[in-house]
Amino acid sequence: MIPLIDLKAQYQSIKNEIGQAVGRVLESCQFVLGDEVAAFEEEFASYCGAKYGIAVNSGTSALHLSLLAAGIGPGDEVITIPFTFVATVAGIVYTGARPVLVDIQLPSYNIDVDRIEEKITERTKAIIPVHLYGQTADMDPILEIARRQNLKVIEDAAQAHGAEYKRRRAGGMGDLGCFSFYPGKNLGAYGEGGMVVTNDPEYARTIRMLRDWGQGSKYHHVLKGYNYRMDGIQGAVLRVKLRHLEKWTEARRLHAQKYNQWLAGTPIQTPVEMPFNRHVYHQYTIRLPERNQIQTWLQTQGIQTGIHYPIPVHLQEAYTDLGYRTGDFPISEKAAKEVLSLPLYPEMSEAQINIIGSVLKERFR
Ligand SMILES: *Cc1c(COP(=O)(O)O)cnc(C)c1O
Repeated sequence: MIPLIDLKAQYQSIKNEIGQAVGRVLESCQFVLGDEVAAFEEEFASYCGAKYGIAVNSGTSALHLSLLAAGIGPGDEVITIPFTFVATVAGIVYTGARPVLVDIQLPSYNIDVDRIEEKITERTKAIIPVHLYGQTADMDPILEIARRQNLKVIEDAAQAHGAEYKRRRAGGMGDLGCFSFYPGKNLGAYGEGGMVVTNDPEYARTIRMLRDWGQGSKYHHVLKGYNYRMDGIQGAVLRVKLRHLEKWTEARRLHAQKYNQWLAGTPIQTPVEMPFNRHVYHQYTIRLPERNQIQTWLQTQGIQTGIHYPIPVHLQEAYTDLGYRTGDFPISEKAAKEVLSLPLYPEMSEAQINIIGSVLKERFR
């Protein structure tokens, strides 16, 4: 069986470095935040081209605190897409604000920038573009609309570590950028983790307080805060892994090119790297009408696949109270029926890609 992702292969390749880094944390007993986390904040913010990094315990927490720091709460509206992982919308709901959804466009799977302005009201406070599958949204028009309408831009870069748009890195383009280090992400912790990056010292200060019970100093609670701190061990692991990230991203890009070559000339819609983008292929997601049949059949061929995501957020049971219905976002609904993610991780061999590519090519001959 070729798995969708193989975390063990990567661990084997960095086992010694990880062992030493984790050992240092255990010796120091800095189990929560501490020097390793502080160093990782600086290194990752700099990697994103941002001044400040604030490490938290998940990507969801990063979104929640970014929205709070931007002053968003009950009565406000925040624009995002329905074709995303549920956390994007959940983060908005946590603040008491209302998610206002805008359909995606194809072939990018990212927000349709031409449909943003018609959704803006006097209550709209922010836009959350999601850089889905590892490719950034079309940021220039989004930033231009935000400037004109006085909105904040909070990037959901949970799938886009190191992705670029016109040579600017994901997370560093908007007012705030949110990352997840969930183990399966391109930069994954050995547990939960997340980070907010920003160039604004006030946002950085506020988020630093909010993640740690709103403390200005010990037991002095300036804000109503949360326990959203990053573990010391995760900081140490992520520092080691960040040093390998560019190499891993290049491997993902090469694998994607190989897939593209195999699937050219078939009815399969392969991922499209949009102009000005550096796609980091968090997922290599294809689109085909008979998706479910092909997924079942690939399973019988020993090839594991995934569906990101089978139900758009506006049709999820938990979010019926948003008042949306089937048909409201036709492109997202079509994508949910047709997308299929093929195995992709840096340590994959060319032989494995060739097996998957040839099996699919043969099927559609
Ligand atoms: C993974 C993910 C999140 C949430 O991150 P967690 O660390 O799991 O909380 C948010 N948005 C997107 C698009 C994601 O893929």
